[in-house]
Amino acid sequence: RLEVQHLIRAFDGLRVVDDVSFTVAAGEVACLLGPSGCGKSTTLRIVAGVDMQDSGSIFVDGRLICDTVFRIPPERRAIGLMFQDFALFPHLPVSENVAFGLPGGFATNRARVGELLERVQMSNHVDSYPHELSGGEQQRVALARALAPKPRVLLMDEPFSGLDERLRDGIRDDTLALLKEERTAVLLVTHEPDEAMRMADQILLMRAGRIVQQGAPYNLYNAPVDRRAAAFFSDIN
Ligand code: ATP
Ligand code: MG
Repeated sequence: RLEVQHLIRAFDGLRVVDDVSFTVAAGEVACLLGPSGCGKSTTLRIVAGVDMQDSGSIFVDGRLICDTVFRIPPERRAIGLMFQDFALFPHLPVSENVAFGLPGGFATNRARVGELLERVQMSNHVDSYPHELSGGEQQRVALARALAPKPRVLLMDEPFSGLDERLRDGIRDDTLALLKEERTAVLLVTHEPDEAMRMADQILLMRAGRIVQQGAPYNLYNAPVDRRAAAFFSDIN
């Protein structure tokens, strides 16, 4: 469970994250949806611990991980990351890539790595190197790697945007199924309404640093907060 309370972050006096609050339950996917530059990645970076808010608090499973005076370092937050350009390690085989965040590596975590590779349908590539895999296959391995240490929260920043359109739907569906099984709280950033409608339990519609509407996808689709939100969702079929 991820709780973000009254997060504020300014650059040069301009608030790019402006009093953002939300909660993502375990097993839930929340989509942070909004146009380029509205503050999505900045929000994610603060939660991950690679950037620091000016004010506001963040909790994981009820435990404070960061406020203005207290800060747990990124590697001890039980938060997993999956970014578009968060590439696999080219010099390591799939097995060691997936085991990377686990003490002892692949040798002492064969069962967990095997289970995850099976779930992402990559069991037959355990000894392959990243350059021997397609983009979609690399994506599946990256998901297995992010989930291997059983993070309580997974942050995903446009994870499917580098993929071929034809592959995307299948990988989205498979990713969603695995996330539900692992019971992780997921915060997924996208600027595509279509992706949010497909994947989200909850959509956080963001504009100029603020969350202007939040709720279940059908609520935002059926009762958009204003004309701009209505236009944003109108392309979806
Ligand atoms: P996109 O969909 O294009 O990825 P985004 O919603 O992820 O956009 P952010 O990356 O969060 O947007 O950026 C929000 C705003 O904050 C932008 O105007 C950006 O230029 C600004 N910004 C982000 N990081 C910094 C920084 N380190 N210094 C100054 N300005 C920054
Ligand atoms: Mg971004």
